[in-house]
Amino acid sequence: LAEVLEHEQDLPSLTPDGHLMPLMVNTGLAVDAVASLKSRISGVGLYRTEVPFMITERFPGEQEQTRLYRDQLESFAPLPVVMRTLDIGGDKDLPYFPIEEANPFLGWRGIRVTLDHPEVLMVQLRAMLRASQGLDNMQVLLPMVTNVDEVDVALRLLERAIVELGEEGVEVGRPKVGVMLEVPATLYQLDALAERVDFFSVGSNDLTQYLLAVDRNNPRVAELYDPLHPAVLSAMSRLAADSRRLAMPTSVCGELAGDPAGALLLMGMGFSSLSMNAPSLPRVRAAIRRVPLQSARDLLDETLKFDSPRAVHEHLTSRMEGWN
Ligand code: PEP
Ligand code: MG
Repeated sequence: LAEVLEHEQDLPSLTPDGHLMPLMVNTGLAVDAVASLKSRISGVGLYRTEVPFMITERFPGEQEQTRLYRDQLESFAPLPVVMRTLDIGGDKDLPYFPIEEANPFLGWRGIRVTLDHPEVLMVQLRAMLRASQGLDNMQVLLPMVTNVDEVDVALRLLERAIVELGEEGVEVGRPKVGVMLEVPATLYQLDALAERVDFFSVGSNDLTQYLLAVDRNNPRVAELYDPLHPAVLSAMSRLAADSRRLAMPTSVCGELAGDPAGALLLMGMGFSSLSMNAPSLPRVRAAIRRVPLQSARDLLDETLKFDSPRAVHEHLTSRMEGWN
């Protein structure tokens, strides 16, 4: 089977009934290894900028960040690279910026941190903009958004960064900006968010954790953590329909997108693209190439009828076996 999968990897992620499901990759470090896949993907759906920050001894300066980001953008150009602003807090601590809290996943993380430290966000935005000069493939993604005011402030800072650079003789255009949908509240404010940004990206890892009130890293409740929980699937399905109504390009960049059954369900829901870790690409591509869009929609309809996570899993396992 491994050989069959390898053989397929240069073929498009096209269903037998002719639907193209763009596949993207998530990156952090080791850009070179992933860049070799360039011909097989539609871009980088999520570059986690905090990853390189975790191996330095202090916040990298503007020049250092510019180099890092340029490397990503050049490696994948002309394909789009979605750069997420720093998403620390929760389980991701920087050694030189410790955050100690009783409930870190409900606390100071993502955009909450960077809006409280606009100097950190400004350096990062300036570096991203500088890095994108002449390439035009950079998009900015805001993590852990809870309300539209956060988006407005971040957009103002981005605008300020563009103006500042212009005054320094560095002419850069305004990149596309997106919001991560990972706090459940955002699912009820899609219209308001869509007025402000250009695309959405669903963080199914955090969305699952917050919808189910289950810490995604706590082994005691690991069995309850389940992106295939009927409530999560139902929320994602509605969110996909709403995004389509709003004509907002919406991708999924959590682990669910890298699971073949999950990817088929997400395709059935109507998401515009799927972004995953590179090792997940072969199996997801194979699933898409074997299953018509209409069958993925049927699979979704059947699956949404189950009210227990266990029943969902059993059903998906037996249906996936039929496609092997
Ligand atoms: C997510 O929450 O699904 C996501 C993609 O972001 P991270 O895993 O980095 O929190
Ligand atoms: Mg997340």
